[in-house]
Amino acid sequence: MKIGVPKEIKNYESRVAITPAGVFELVNCGHQVFVQEGAGEGSGFSDDDYRETGAYMLQTIEAVYAMTDMIVKVKEPIAYEYSLVKKNQIVFTYFHFASSRELTEAMINSKAVCIAYETVTDTEGTLPLLTPMSEVAGRMAIQQGAKYLEKPIKGRGVLLGGVPGVPPGKVLVLGAGVVGVQAAKMAAGLGAHVTILDINMKRLRYVNDVMPSHVVTEFSSVYNIKKHIKNHDLIIGAVLIPGAKAPSLITREMLKDMRPGTVLVDVAVDQGGCFETTRPTTHDDPTFIIDNIVHYCVTNMPGAVPYTSTLALTNVTLPYVLKLANMGWEKACEQNADLRSGLSIVKGEVVAKELLEAFNLPL
Ligand code: NAD
Repeated sequence: MKIGVPKEIKNYESRVAITPAGVFELVNCGHQVFVQEGAGEGSGFSDDDYRETGAYMLQTIEAVYAMTDMIVKVKEPIAYEYSLVKKNQIVFTYFHFASSRELTEAMINSKAVCIAYETVTDTEGTLPLLTPMSEVAGRMAIQQGAKYLEKPIKGRGVLLGGVPGVPPGKVLVLGAGVVGVQAAKMAAGLGAHVTILDINMKRLRYVNDVMPSHVVTEFSSVYNIKKHIKNHDLIIGAVLIPGAKAPSLITREMLKDMRPGTVLVDVAVDQGGCFETTRPTTHDDPTFIIDNIVHYCVTNMPGAVPYTSTLALTNVTLPYVLKLANMGWEKACEQNADLRSGLSIVKGEVVAKELLEAFNLPL
């Protein structure tokens, strides 16, 4: 199969969908890989790295779409790319269709086969192509939180790990899922005192089993959240209710109970956020302050660390790319339930039930 890897053109997106190691695997299986010049630059891969593993380098994004049977990307195609997507071409990427009718209509009109990373579901019901990005965001949440706790950037002026003779900072993590556990792990590694809340006792039992004793689990309730926000320095929002807007666990009113300079990192911002005062921010201007409380609410946190995020993403996407290339999309989806759940739009027809519901289309 001829596989195309365009350079991502969405703002602040430096990841690339296939690394030179991925090209090597695909070429070994007899496929041809066409990579746009400069596509890997933001993630540390030069055009020569790709050439050495057998990729053909193309100058323009138009050529990559025109020459290939399958496009593998990171982010959804943006308006400029809509007309480049060809009839019957496989497009394998994050789409997040439900948030854009325009994109959905464009992909219906293209008559391409659109398989969405974010809905690929494994036999345990987890989302294997979303998990690594949650892992990155969870770990980054502490890195960012620790930075914004510094006084010159309006934080409380607390060093999370403390020093001998001085107690460590206190981190409160709301949600003990993928993001929450990774955040708790990083905070614990820095020596901070960590409290992690969830409504799922299974998750709390797991955290209790695997974390050191300075990570304390507690059931998530309004009472417990109100109790803890008064004396924690850094609060991480990491809750998710699948398919729904995140619940507002911290209201504007509650900000008054926090100490000035407390830092809130709302990782759940992409689902509306779990603090009432959350609004989406960007890497260019990541924070804002309300009632002396620092808010960090960047919607695509992994985009800031493309060297790590590209490898984390391609580790999990490559096995699926290989299946699609080796078998073709029909056979691959027939034999692999994970991939089948990623099928969203097939040659002009919406096949994902959630998408039909989201746009009120006939089931
Ligand atoms: P997850 O499903 O693994 O975990 C969510 C956890 O929240 C679950 O354990 C659930 O029981 C818990 N929860 C639900 N209601 C709760 C409540 N009232 N109190 C406490 N806990 C509650 O999800 P995840 O992969 O950890 O993702 C968390 C959020 O982070 C999602 O909204 C995801 O989209 C987002 N995310 C954002 C970025 C970014 O760049 N901003 C990157 C990756 C993920």
